[in-house]
Amino acid sequence: MRGTGDRYIAPGCLLCREGAKLVLFVTGRCERGCWYCPLSADRKGVDRVWANDREVSSDDDLLAEARAMSALGTGVTGGDPLLVPERVAHCCRVLKEAFGPAHQVHLYTGQAPTADDLRPLVGLVDELRLHPPHADWGRILETPYPGAVRAARSLGFAVGIEVPSLPGIEALAALLPLVDFLNINELEWGDTCADGMRARGLELADPAGNAVAGAEAWARPLLGHEKVRFCSSAFKDAVQLRRRMLRIAVNTARPFDEVSEDGTVVYGLIRPDGGVDEAVAALGLSGEEYAVVDGAVELAWDRLAAGRGAVSGAMAVVERYPNRGMIVEVTPL
Ligand code: SF4
Repeated sequence: MRGTGDRYIAPGCLLCREGAKLVLFVTGRCERGCWYCPLSADRKGVDRVWANDREVSSDDDLLAEARAMSALGTGVTGGDPLLVPERVAHCCRVLKEAFGPAHQVHLYTGQAPTADDLRPLVGLVDELRLHPPHADWGRILETPYPGAVRAARSLGFAVGIEVPSLPGIEALAALLPLVDFLNINELEWGDTCADGMRARGLELADPAGNAVAGAEAWARPLLGHEKVRFCSSAFKDAVQLRRRMLRIAVNTARPFDEVSEDGTVVYGLIRPDGGVDEAVAALGLSGEEYAVVDGAVELAWDRLAAGRGAVSGAMAVVERYPNRGMIVEVTPL
């Protein structure tokens, strides 16, 4: 797909940057042990499934999260999704049946799959993103990856390489004639790879962010090529994640939730000393102006702030990711 300036943009990237792509993490298992692996400790090696930040245990859970963000596509990731190919096929079939064949699916893998590996995914996955091991980059044409690219293209997949920016990345230019795209993710610092990063003398570019110093410079020799795209750590956080959260927030916010410009939701919460009914009456709430969750009353934060003299109990303003996601901040009132 051609973008501005006639540069190729993977279809999956177009949806991702609009925040319209569900991130489907199908397993934390992976047989590689990349020293820069960004997986968090709670997912690494764990054979469970998450859709965005929500753990999934049924098809309904998967579809609910996709609907919550009005997803237009899905990125299947891990770990290595090709260690659980039946699970991948099942999830992709569920998504394509629910949202139609135009629901764009891209799949990440650390493997170099064969045509036999990929055939069951034809029609379920649209785009493949291969991640060859860093140790192989200097001899990439002698590895199984060129064969995997050819096999995948012959089956009709769009095929690209997706790797973090690391020293020596310019060697991957040898693959450019074969692939549709090469995506370079700015190398990010993570809890589980911090020791490996320190052992190699790496450090953060800015203590306020996750990008590793020097990562953009390593990628620079490739950046002029029309098939190459660089995805910065700041862009991922500031644009992709924010847009995805906003889509979810707009779809799932309750009438009294305030949606912030970052895509979080903000509401007031009181655990009344007296009964819930008493607090609701004292605050003059009715209908959709409140919800009772685990014995607490949730309502518009400014309404609680204005009425706090009328009730007693622990009160706070809560900011969290949408759809009951991670709590970002609790400010006592
Ligand atoms: S292939 Fe990907 S998931 Fe597996 S260890 Fe490397 S970076 Fe982590």
